[in-house]
Formats: sequence, structure tokens, C-alpha cells
Amino acid sequence: MASWQCIKQCGACCHLDPDERPDLEEYLSPEELGLYLSMVSEGGWCVNLDQQRKECTIYANRPRFCRVEAEIFQDMYGIEPEELNDFAIDCCRQQIEAVYGDHSLESLRFDQALGF
Ligand code: SF4
Ligand code: SF4
Repeated sequence: MASWQCIKQCGACCHLDPDERPDLEEYLSPEELGLYLSMVSEGGWCVNLDQQRKECTIYANRPRFCRVEAEIFQDMYGIEPEELNDFAIDCCRQQIEAVYGDHSLESLRFDQALGF
């Protein structure tokens, strides 16, 4: 069974364009939604993403909704801890394909890292 991991220098999940995430209000509190929207720059990327390096510039202090942690995913999405691995894999794959395409270097790197 594949184990989820972040492949780093990807940043697909940091493309925050709210038009592509119409259900934000379902899993973010009003305060979190305000923070989320304040982070969206022109082009839909997070203002905290170093777009050259594809790295978060506030990683240690990134918001709760950026963290892949069992307790947070259970709270936000109703995902049980034992479901987190598969859910996170699906989320990353969908986001990487949507942002970069399914033949992108990031897609290939993700599949390779997870052993697909
Ligand atoms: S989409 Fe997944 S692999 Fe890419 S940066 Fe986000 S968590 Fe990491
Ligand atoms: S705060 Fe960091 S991890 Fe969260 S979306 Fe922005 S760049 Fe990505």
C-alpha cells in the first residue's frame, strides 16, 4: 500500500484560487476563510509561496488548513485517521493534475515517490 508523502518543491496545493474550490465555506471557519482569501494573490497562488523554489516561506507557521494532520483532517473533512492516507493521496493527485497536468514533472514525481 502506498504511503502519502509530500514530494516538496511542488506547491500544487498552494494554488488557492477560490473559483476552483467552491466548497471552502463547508470546511473553513469564517476566520479561516478570511485568512485564506487574504492569502490569494493574482493568478491564484498563495502569497506565501516562493514561486521560483515552489516552497512555503512561512512553513513552520503555516495555517491549520495547510497541515496534513489526522486531527485537522477529521475536523475539517470528517476523514477518520485510518482514511487519511488514501484521502491525502487522492487530494494531492487531483490538485497536481489540475494545476500542472497529468503528464507534468510533478505528477510523475508524485507517482514515482509513492511507488505507482
Ligand atoms: S500537492 Fe501534495 S505533494 Fe504537492 S506540495 Fe502539496 S502536499 Fe506536497
Ligand atoms: S501558507 Fe504555505 S503551505 Fe499554505 S498555501 Fe501558502 S505557501 Fe502553501
